Amino acid sequence: MSTIKLGQITVPAIGVGTWNIGEDPTKHDEEVKAIRTAVDAGATVIDTAEMYGQGRSERITAEALAPYSRENLFLIDKVLPGNASHAKLENSLDRSLRLMQTDYFDLYLLHWRGTVPLAETVEELTKMQEKGKIRHWGVSNFDTADIKELWSLPNGTDCLANENLYNLDERGIEYDLLPLMHQAGMPLIAYSPLSQGDTISGKLTDHPLIKEMAHNHHVTVYQIMLAWTIRDHHTLAIPKAASPVHAKENAEALNISFTSDELEALAKAFPKPTTKQPLATI
Ligand code: NDP
Repeated sequence: MSTIKLGQITVPAIGVGTWNIGEDPTKHDEEVKAIRTAVDAGATVIDTAEMYGQGRSERITAEALAPYSRENLFLIDKVLPGNASHAKLENSLDRSLRLMQTDYFDLYLLHWRGTVPLAETVEELTKMQEKGKIRHWGVSNFDTADIKELWSLPNGTDCLANENLYNLDERGIEYDLLPLMHQAGMPLIAYSPLSQGDTISGKLTDHPLIKEMAHNHHVTVYQIMLAWTIRDHHTLAIPKAASPVHAKENAEALNISFTSDELEALAKAFPKPTTKQPLATI
């Protein structure tokens, strides 16, 4: 099974995304079951945010996780940039902790950069860490220059991880951001690793090479996409699945590995960038 180190903790390299869950009451039971299916299949890292459904995602995630021992889970939550200040961050964190029915997060991320000075956010995150409300903090949607600026601040190098858009069709960060992060031992948390289901373009799911690989490995095209995302052992992928069948498939992708020929073929079909790309975000 593919794993990754987040701080001192080794976790499975595929976790669970929770954006857009909790929005439709008729899907409630299915969504709870999907999260439990993922955790039962080994996906013990859960990613949520105060933004998702203004707390509805946190609420349903907490309900789904209630039967599990807290110490066996790795919980990631995110603060909105507008709340990442001396005046507001602790309130946001306390609200998220309450909704998630826990007294600490393993990792608390700044969701993206806003107008609050970065130094102020880092000071506040450090304070929360000292109070024991978060084990680690990190960032999301940070490009190379943002990470360098962060590292120049007091305690800035304590940043544990950067969460960014990354999948076979979105390799822009491989130009300079990923090499910088790898050099510093900073893991990537890959969001939208399935290109949000790839339902609009079908660019990945309809691709003959991905279909052929799925056939050869006796898995689905989505599982190939996920296994590719975590191939470097520095990346945690957090696919969202409201369907229990999808949730199980995603966790099982932890066991897929590629030959160097397969990786080369994928790199040829979906080349990495040769110039700096604007940071892709959703
Ligand atoms: P994903 O790339 O995870 O795609 C989710 C879609 O793929 C859903 O429609 C889901 O369907 C479908 N799907 C999941 N598994 C399978 C499968 N095995 N077979 C077929 N279809 C499947 O998109 P997200 O944008 O949700 O990204 C994942 C997570 O990343 C988010 O939920 C969130 O936690 C995080 N995120 C963070 C951001 C940030 O700024 N930090 C931004 C965006 C996302 P179904 O639900 O029906 O199972």
